[in-house]
Amino acid sequence: MTTLQQIIDDLTQEAARIQIQGRGLRPDEMARVQAIYEALPHLKKALEILEKKIQSTLITYKIVADLDGKLKQAGRVACNFWNRFVIPNYSVVIRLGLFTSNSNTIARAYKPYERDGVYYGVIEFNTKYLSTFSRNQISGTIAHEIGHTLGIGWNEWEKLFDHSNGKFDESAIQAINDLKDMRVETEYGPGTQYSHWDEERHGEELMTGFKNTTEHVLPVTIEIMSLLGHQVAEKLPNKTDLNALLDSLAQITFSRQGEAKSLNLDHFEETEIWENVPHDQPMSRKSSKKA
Ligand SMILES: [Zn+2]
Repeated sequence: MTTLQQIIDDLTQEAARIQIQGRGLRPDEMARVQAIYEALPHLKKALEILEKKIQSTLITYKIVADLDGKLKQAGRVACNFWNRFVIPNYSVVIRLGLFTSNSNTIARAYKPYERDGVYYGVIEFNTKYLSTFSRNQISGTIAHEIGHTLGIGWNEWEKLFDHSNGKFDESAIQAINDLKDMRVETEYGPGTQYSHWDEERHGEELMTGFKNTTEHVLPVTIEIMSLLGHQVAEKLPNKTDLNALLDSLAQITFSRQGEAKSLNLDHFEETEIWENVPHDQPMSRKSSKKA
């Protein structure tokens, strides 16, 4: 079967062949070349439309262990958040569980792993703190970690900015103008460095390395997903308060249970810890460290 791409290539070559004969073109040749050049943009546009991914990927969660259904409730809201704005290039399963430790760590996330095109991220919450956490505190933490699983901090992200100053490259700014004002975190060492928005400049944004009591989401946090291989389903029009956003997303009923069930939710691999959400920063410093 001839593919549309093949037709485009053939026509491009034919037009080139006609034009390199080293003599003036006959009227029928001129007409043919002109017809090809008129057709090509339409054919390319059609190819682009056909190649657009038909939505079949999603972000979902698996409850490994829970406390009074808190993780289930928060996981649902965090997945609603990302499913509303992004059609991911791959499905994501966030595995939510517990650990108990008499330490200052309130949650820990493990390095994502992949199997059969599905990416898995494991997040565990410390039972010592979980009961006192609000739903939005938990879902905000999960939404932050899903942001990483979608590529903030690794893979394509790494190629977008200058590691010496956290500034985005010209080509990235050309694609998303807001990136000219954004800086990547270059301090605080492994785990925080290079995988978050800069704390000093973007303090209370969802994807900075420190958890704040009030947080917001910038439109660019959604838009940059298009540079990480995903499709943006809906742009966030303005800087938006995270609590308000999570509250509105809590009202949405998840309608894609069937698709979620078709994923292998149970696949588990042990990986190294990717981020801790410690409690040991002085709280007076307005934030506790996420990474
Ligand atoms: Zn993080």
